[in-house]
Amino acid sequence: MAAKLIKGTEIREEILEEIEAEVAKIKEKHGVVPGLVTILVGENPASISYVTLKIKTAHRVGFHEIQDSQPIDLSEEALLALIDKYNKDDAIHGILVQLPLPKQINEKKVLNAIDPDKDVDGFHPVNVGRLMIGGDEVKFPPCTPAGIQEMIVRAGVETKGAEVVVVGRSNIVGKPIANMMLQKGVGANSTVTVVHTGTKDLASHCRRADILIVAAGVPGLVKPEWIKPGACVIDVGVNRIGEKISEKTGKKIAILSGDVDFDAAKEIAGSITPVPGGVGPMTITMLMKNTLKSLKFRLGIN
Ligand code: NAP
Repeated sequence: MAAKLIKGTEIREEILEEIEAEVAKIKEKHGVVPGLVTILVGENPASISYVTLKIKTAHRVGFHEIQDSQPIDLSEEALLALIDKYNKDDAIHGILVQLPLPKQINEKKVLNAIDPDKDVDGFHPVNVGRLMIGGDEVKFPPCTPAGIQEMIVRAGVETKGAEVVVVGRSNIVGKPIANMMLQKGVGANSTVTVVHTGTKDLASHCRRADILIVAAGVPGLVKPEWIKPGACVIDVGVNRIGEKISEKTGKKIAILSGDVDFDAAKEIAGSITPVPGGVGPMTITMLMKNTLKSLKFRLGIN
C-alpha cells in the first residue's frame, strides 16, 4: 500500500495562516508586530534568493521586515557594529546573518555576537545549550529540526516510545533533531539512535526505526529494504542530481532528489516526505514561528 505523503507545502500554509492570525491579534492588543532583519553581505545569487524568500514570507505574515544588504568588502568590525545596532533595536526581534560570509569575516565570531534572545536561527551556543536542557529552557529550536518535528506531530505519528533513527550528525540537522526527539514532552519522548559514517551496520539500525529521519546528503543512501513496514520516513536530503527545463518558465532548473529511494520506499513506509515539497518548505516557516516567539517572550505572553 502506498504511504501517506507528508507534504511540507501544505503544512507550511497551515502554519503561516496561524502565525498571520496571531500577529494580527498581538498587533491589535499590544500595538507591535514581530521585527525580522536579514543581513546579506555581497551578492551571492543563492543567498539573494534565500533572503528574498525569507523577507517575502515575513511580509506575508505581517512582520516588520528589513533586508540590510551590505557590500562584499564590508569589514568584520563594521558587521559586528551592525549586529550590535540591531541587538539594541527594540523593533527587531530576530536577526539573521545570511551565510556564507566573505573570507575577511569570521562567521563564528559574527554568529556569536547576535543576542541569543534574537537568535531566531537557534545556532548561538546559548540556544544550543538551552535545546540540550529541554523543557522551558528552549527558546529557539533550529528551524529545520523544528520543521521536522512539527511535520511528524501534524501527520499524527506517535512519538512516545517510538524508535527514532537519525542518519547524520550535523550541528544543523542530525544532532539537534536527535536531541529534540529524546526530550520529555509532546512530539518527542522517543528512543533515539544517531548513525553516521562511523556506524558499523547502517541497515540494521534503520530497519528498527518507527521514525526514520535521514539527513546525510547522499542521494539514494537509504534502500527500500532498510525501511520497517509502516514506518514514518522523513527525508531531509536535498541533492542536485541533474538539470531540466521548467515547463512553467522555460528556464533550466535543478532536478532534486532526497537521500531515500522515494518511489520504492513509499510502497513500504506508512508515511513519507517527498523531495522537493517535504522538509524544505518548513525551514523558513519555522523561522517565522521563532521570530513570533521572540516577540511573545519580550511581551511575556508565552
Ligand atoms: P552534513 O553537514 O554534510 O552532514 C551529513 C551527515 O550525514 C554527517 O554526519 C555524515 O556523517 C552523515 N553521512 C554522510 N554520508 C553518510 C553515509 N554514507 N552513511 C552514514 N552517514 C553518512 O549535512 P547537513 O547539513 O546535515 O545536510 C544533510 C542533507 O540535508 C543535505 O542534503 C542538505 O542539503 C539537506 N538539508 C536540507 C534542509 C532543508 O530542507 N531545509 C536543511 C538543511 C539540510 P559524518 O559525521 O560521519 O561525516
